[in-house]
Formats: sequence, C-alpha cells, structure tokens
Amino acid sequence: MQSDAEKSGVNAPAAMAGRGGLGKNPTRSRDHNRRIVLDLLRQTSPLGRKALAEATQLSGPAVANILDDLLREGLILDMGRRKAEGEKQGRGQPPLHFALNPRGAHTLGFEISVRGVVSVMLDLVGTQISQQVLAPSGLGLHEGLAVIRQEITRAAALNAGPLMGVGIVHPGGLAIEGQETADPTTLGDWDNVSRDALAQLLGAPVWLENDANAAALSEALFGMAAHLNDVAVLYFGEGLGLGALQAGRLMRGARGHAGEIGHIVVVPDGKACSCGQRGCLERYVSRHALSEALGIPLGRGTVTSLWQDQDPRLMGWIAAAGGHLGQVVSMVENLLDPESIILSGQLPAPVLQALIAATPLRPSVAAHSARLLPRLQPGHAGIFTAALGAAALPFYDAMSP
Ligand SMILES: [Zn+2]
Repeated sequence: MQSDAEKSGVNAPAAMAGRGGLGKNPTRSRDHNRRIVLDLLRQTSPLGRKALAEATQLSGPAVANILDDLLREGLILDMGRRKAEGEKQGRGQPPLHFALNPRGAHTLGFEISVRGVVSVMLDLVGTQISQQVLAPSGLGLHEGLAVIRQEITRAAALNAGPLMGVGIVHPGGLAIEGQETADPTTLGDWDNVSRDALAQLLGAPVWLENDANAAALSEALFGMAAHLNDVAVLYFGEGLGLGALQAGRLMRGARGHAGEIGHIVVVPDGKACSCGQRGCLERYVSRHALSEALGIPLGRGTVTSLWQDQDPRLMGWIAAAGGHLGQVVSMVENLLDPESIILSGQLPAPVLQALIAATPLRPSVAAHSARLLPRLQPGHAGIFTAALGAAALPFYDAMSP
C-alpha cells in the first residue's frame, strides 16, 4: 500500500518516516526527549528523576520539565518516594518515582480484511482492555467506517482516558503497474483513502499501516521482539508479508512497499499469481494457499478444528509449506541479518509451531554458534494479531525516540 506520507502529502510521523537526525531544532528535540522518557517508563516503571536523567543523558531540569508536562497531561503517575533500585538509603528523602498511567490514554486498533473487521483496545501500558469481532466478512470503506465509529463510541464509555489514536491495518494492494488480475487477498477501496481523510471522517488521529509492518511493531512493543532492535516478522494475513525492524526502525522502502515477500518466486514456472509471475511464495505459504489446498474456505475455527483432527490435508500442507518457507528464511537472514525471525499471524498457535518445526533451516549468516535466540520462533497468533499491531501504532509513534 502507499505510505502515509505519500498519501497525505505531509511528513509522516517520525516513527514511520525514519528516526534520528532530528537536529537541533528545539521543538523537535523536546518532542524527541519526551519520547525517550515515555519509552523508558514503558520499559521500566517506576523510575526516579535521577535514573531518567542518567538514562537519557538529559539535564535534571530538562527531565523535570518533561515529567511536569506528562503529569499535567495525565500520561504518568507520581508513585511517591521510594528507594532507587540497588541503591543504599542515603541521607535525605528517597526520590519521587514515576510510572505510566494505565488510564492516561487508550488506543484502538482495527484490522480490515476479507475475513471481516476485528478490533483491539489497549490502555497506556499496553494491556488489552477488549477485543471484538465487529463484522464477520470484509466491508467496503463506507460500512467499515460506520463500525469503526461505533467502536470508538463504545470504547470512550470504558473510562480508559482519552483516545490517543486509531490504528488501521489492511493487507494493501501490490502497487505493480499493469497488474491485471485482482488480488484475492486484498480489499480495493481501502487502498485509495488517505490517512488525513480517515482522520477527518473518524474525528481522531489515524495511523495507517500494512498488516505485516503492524505485526512487527506489536512484536517489538508487546511480544517476542521486545528489546530487539533488528528483527524480521513473517506475517500470515490472507497472504504472507514481511515486517522488519532495523536498528529499531521499521524498514519501509522508498514508497512503503518493502517486505512484499509473498511475491518472491520459490517455484520456477509454478502456480500463476495475481502479480503476473508464476510460483510466488504466497501461492504456497499463506492462508489463501491453505484454503486452496484444502478445497474449502477458511471460516473462523476451520483451521483449529482441522488441527484437532490432525487432518492429513492440513498436515500435508504444513510439510510442503515448511519446505518453501525454509528457502525464504535463509534469504531473509542473508539480506537483513536479524537477531531472530518471528512467524506470526492468523493461524492457530499450534499450527504456527508445527510450521516452524517443518521448516528446514539452511546455511545462512544466521547459522553461527554464538546465537542467543532461535533463528525462527513463533510470535502472536490468532485472529486479533494484526489488530493488536494496529493498536500499537499510536504508541510506537508517541513513545519511540
Ligand atoms: Zn505474486
């Protein structure tokens, strides 16, 4: 899909546009410092002013100003005086400590796909307050916005602070010119609406992202990739996408299309694909491919019940898909050198585990004895995975330096 920046014609938020290099502009650096403080409190709470000043390398008064602002906005709580960790009680009073206020704000994440509309609501510390199936099948723009509005109203009544923002993810069309066949894994009219237009229609700040990038952010904020800076997430939506963080930043490409790994050819002269090629990975390793292999549409619970029966068609698909995935895992490792690759998405957790077990790990730069993490590991699973990532988008923007 198009990047936010491309659609809105304005600079994307720092989080999406790439970080660093903020220069000496005082407004920008104050904003940057505020993100650092929020991010530290997200990772470790409570913290005292001195610990925050040391970790941020900011002056005491600069940290105090930021904390005053955050307290006034209700985003953090004064947790009282307590001894700093590992510190002996010195003379005088122990320092004031601060923590994120769970009820300081909430975010809503929506996934729009051919399977329907689902939502996740998070509080400011990332705890899930609710998850909802809002529509059982794919909705066009007009109907989709109506259910999103209803959910915003419902969430506002839950006393979880102001709405920090709405994240929306959808698979996004491949922007390949001359593509003739409609891609069965994407929804047309959501591709052509800008972030600004959505924000106006919904009356709230909006973040737009493709599902694989959102999945990578949710793993980085709340999942297997917490504390990892270089990580790749292979994400099962209807198709297969790649979201990657490099040095803590989302890899987006020049026009936001980086990570279209589903359209890498793994079988020369293989099955025809909507992108115009033959033998694309997505034709073998995706929910769409699984549905094709089974000869039935995948409703909610279909794969779970097939797994419970150890259905031979499902088991056969897992074995074959693992073989193709092995090719791509070593390719991603050689290209991106991630600390780990996470397999996540809209398949039941035991199926993702079985797929990992069926994936042969080939020689690559990742095959070395000093590794601390598995080369391939499972992440978030199930139908709310992308919506969780969507709900993480406003956080990522507010909290990531
Ligand atoms: Zn393709």
